[in-house]
Amino acid sequence: MEEKQISITVLLPAGKLPLDIMDKARELARRFELGVYCSLMQNLRLTNVPESAVATVKEELAALGADFKGPGKFPLPRVCVGKDHCPLGLVDTKAMSDKIISRFAGREKTKAKFKIAISACPLSCSSPKATDIGLVATKKGYEVYVGGKGGPFPKVGRRIKREAGPKEALDIISELVDFHHQKTLSKQRMSKLLSDPEFPFAEA
Ligand code: SF4
Repeated sequence: MEEKQISITVLLPAGKLPLDIMDKARELARRFELGVYCSLMQNLRLTNVPESAVATVKEELAALGADFKGPGKFPLPRVCVGKDHCPLGLVDTKAMSDKIISRFAGREKTKAKFKIAISACPLSCSSPKATDIGLVATKKGYEVYVGGKGGPFPKVGRRIKREAGPKEALDIISELVDFHHQKTLSKQRMSKLLSDPEFPFAEA
């Protein structure tokens, strides 16, 4: 019987790939004949990992500080390159992503399946308006969108806040995630919650 193969996803905050992890992934890919896929969520996925090699692959990457996607983990924000690398950028998206990670990463048993995206200007290259929770930087602060999604029936998120500072944006995310947790059995997109009579934010 052919050996089962699985995928391993290495989480890359703000889409940044450390060179030592890149080198190790390349070496593992050659050793075990793996595929390498840069996911739309800006993570690194190793595909076709034989079941017998999973522990080795994880151990060798973890030794370099790699963290892996898994059930119950708070989602890493998808971000555009931000002001350091785009002339239109108004904010440092990695810094905002880091703030979100440091506030929520320790949160256990996060219920699937919402995503977060941040864009450094209204052009919205990271699709924050088509994501469960989206932050769009403007000259006056963040606009916060909720309930956007792609898939076969895409939706544009509802704007629930304008001109939010970073701290206020984090507090809003916190309230949204708590509401999602309270109203969700196992998994649910944020869009399903917009019509809940207790949804805590009006359109802004
Ligand atoms: S959203 Fe704006 S700042 Fe970000 S990459 Fe696109 S144009 Fe540049």
